[in-house]
Amino acid sequence: MKLVLLGPPGVGKGTQATNVKEHFGIVHLSTGDILRGEVKANSELGQKAKSFMDAGKLVPDELLLKMMEIRLQQPDCEPGYLLDGFPRTIPQAEGLDNLLTGLGQNLAAVVSLTADEDELVKRLVLRGETSGRSDDTPKVIRDRQEVYRQQTEPLLEYYASTDLVKEVDGIGTIEEITQRILAVLN
Ligand code: ADP
Repeated sequence: MKLVLLGPPGVGKGTQATNVKEHFGIVHLSTGDILRGEVKANSELGQKAKSFMDAGKLVPDELLLKMMEIRLQQPDCEPGYLLDGFPRTIPQAEGLDNLLTGLGQNLAAVVSLTADEDELVKRLVLRGETSGRSDDTPKVIRDRQEVYRQQTEPLLEYYASTDLVKEVDGIGTIEEITQRILAVLN
């Protein structure tokens, strides 16, 4: 089962990804988590990514594609994976398609989690009070929403022709939303 989870910052992708990965016994690949790990380790990739992340901007496509090309070939990805935060731009989606073709793999679905933007900003401001994430401040949160609208939302159009997109309402309890996601996947 190879899945993409798409949705604006704050919609709860990480929380839902954890539940969905457990259900299917697949790995959860959050590019945000992977990148934060690289920053923490002060690796070459982390050093390159940090300033973009702190500003709420996207890390350049080439860096993401190189990182994911390596990651998707690790043996733990064979049974399946849930991509959370990737692809995030049209070039990344095209790059992913090439990677999948090379690996002889297909996506099973692109799950699109939706929610009202004001609600999301409220949630993220709250999260920022405890997450310690340098990009969970009101200004950077608004910027990330804008980046999402401009660069990531067009992916829905990109995938529309493939019949892969399953839209799921992201407002509700964690459990309700997980059930909605599992329902569209079955
Ligand atoms: P969000 O809550 O904004 O969805 P993430 O944890 O997914 O946060 O990502 C945090 C930051 O990491 C992004 O704002 C961006 O700088 C960087 N990042 C994560 N995934 C990607 C990607 N696919 N392409 C470019 N940058 C990315």
